[in-house]
Amino acid sequence: MSDGTLSFHEMGLDDRLLKAISQLGWSEPTPIQEKAIPLALEGKDILARARTGSGKTAAFCIPVIQKILTTKQTSSTEQSVKALVLTPTKELCHQAYKNLMDLTSSCSREVKVLDISPQVPLPTQRPMLMEKPDIIVTTPTRALAHIKACNLDIKHSLELLIIDEADLLFSFGYEEDVRGILSNLPKIYQAFLMSATLSEDVRALKRMVLHNAVILKLEESQLPEATQLTQYHIKCEEQDKFTLVYALMKLNLLRGKSIIFVNEVNRCYKLKLFLEQFAIPACVLNSELPVNSRCHIVNQFNEGLYDIIIASDENLLLDPKTKPQEQEKKKEKRHKKKDREYGVSRGIDFQNVSNVINFDFPRDVDTYIHRVGRTARGDSQGNALSFVSVKDMELLGEVERALSETGVEEESVFKPYNFRMDEIEGFRYRAKDAMRMVTKTAIREARLKEIKQEMLASNKLKTYFEDNPRDLQVLRHDKSLHTVKVQKHLKNVPDYLVPQTLRHMRGMTDKPGKSKRKRKPAASKGPTKAELKYKKRKADPLRSFESAGLVGGGKKKKTS
Ligand code: AMP
Repeated sequence: MSDGTLSFHEMGLDDRLLKAISQLGWSEPTPIQEKAIPLALEGKDILARARTGSGKTAAFCIPVIQKILTTKQTSSTEQSVKALVLTPTKELCHQAYKNLMDLTSSCSREVKVLDISPQVPLPTQRPMLMEKPDIIVTTPTRALAHIKACNLDIKHSLELLIIDEADLLFSFGYEEDVRGILSNLPKIYQAFLMSATLSEDVRALKRMVLHNAVILKLEESQLPEATQLTQYHIKCEEQDKFTLVYALMKLNLLRGKSIIFVNEVNRCYKLKLFLEQFAIPACVLNSELPVNSRCHIVNQFNEGLYDIIIASDENLLLDPKTKPQEQEKKKEKRHKKKDREYGVSRGIDFQNVSNVINFDFPRDVDTYIHRVGRTARGDSQGNALSFVSVKDMELLGEVERALSETGVEEESVFKPYNFRMDEIEGFRYRAKDAMRMVTKTAIREARLKEIKQEMLASNKLKTYFEDNPRDLQVLRHDKSLHTVKVQKHLKNVPDYLVPQTLRHMRGMTDKPGKSKRKRKPAASKGPTKAELKYKKRKADPLRSFESAGLVGGGKKKKTS
């Protein structure tokens, strides 16, 4: 290519692989792919620091497929398991599997891929393993369980070991499993480690797995540039958080799809029940829900069926004030109690997310990066808005420092979201009213009710999708849970609640009862040219707010 970057065609890839890449619409490799693929094809072990969204999955999938195709063309070896892809969660297994399936679409007979993540009992997967697929994707625990059950023998056949999201492996408690797997591998194999951070855990894993590895640290910031991702923060205490999120939704200030992150599962339901009373539907993504439901929720969200997902990454968070030993104990306890092969802010492929709202500020820098990394993926634009209480200020500073190390000097990555809380005083009363209904009992009941519903749905989904794999829209997950009495009048936003500065934007609010505006005659139902022009100019709520003087977030700091 003229600009010095290597194209897929210049990498010596098999035509079938190139065809699949072109069918995916990938015109050129991402930076990590450009660096990693040729090195992997040369036979090098690789440790790559790459964030989710950088194309890292394909960076290892492509050389793995190429190597298998080459082996099969040049020698007539028996069918055997040649590559093992380990990821820390079922969801990440599913994603890697999907990537592999897409990339082998033109050579699916030659390269067989199997996902044996723990979605079904061990014996159910045995017959599929007996066919010795070329590539296996799974979690470390499941891989070791199959090895121990003699369903999987890779001692002599394995050529490639890939560990994705390596930095999570140890914190998810997989260390022993990884050691167990390593003792069942041949003496010589090639290995790739992909990790968002190069933490001490990753270095330990590197020592265990890699030999003379090439380390790829791409000169990329951990999050997209400010031109693509706008990061706002707003000072906001607990009670105001609920009022603010309600006002933002009802005033249509959050355009597009949003993920709202909270720090505990209970708070997911608290927020869902609160929003429910204003007829704002939202789904909860909770580690207690069956995996079929969780995947289905994310799929439907990606398909555009839901606008709001409330998620907690509780199982990744530890109280930083707790002593390390206590943290370890807590970690262990949590791992036993919860589904540890689940992580919301890590890796799950949410698509076209316009806004990430940190309703609760994340408890460490990594979690901030991974949450906010769900938006502004690929070439799309995104906003992140963090609600920051007084107790979060220190952490906000930490995140700010960590991000500006790789970002623009001096200038903070955060812009203040200058929303004036006193302008939404009326919303506060309604929010208080709604909050009164969200009791601990209502939250507990909602949690139980949803799990029951989703257990039933999950079974239905399983059989339904076996017959109709393309049809995803059979069940919705954002229905009201009805464990609180819905107050019908709260659904609408009367004019007097709308801040003065927004009143001219009448289209943004629901209008209860009669509208003061004259109705247009039936024949001229569509908007006039002038209205269309006005709407277009006001399409970006943040920009329009800026011009209305409410938000100064978009303004840059003056530099002398
Ligand atoms: P990952 O970092 O592996 O989670 O990939 C993020 C997204 O980028 C996925 O949806 C991939 O389908 C997409 N992707 C991977 N490689 C390319 C490429 N070369 N060009 C365009 N999109 C890509």
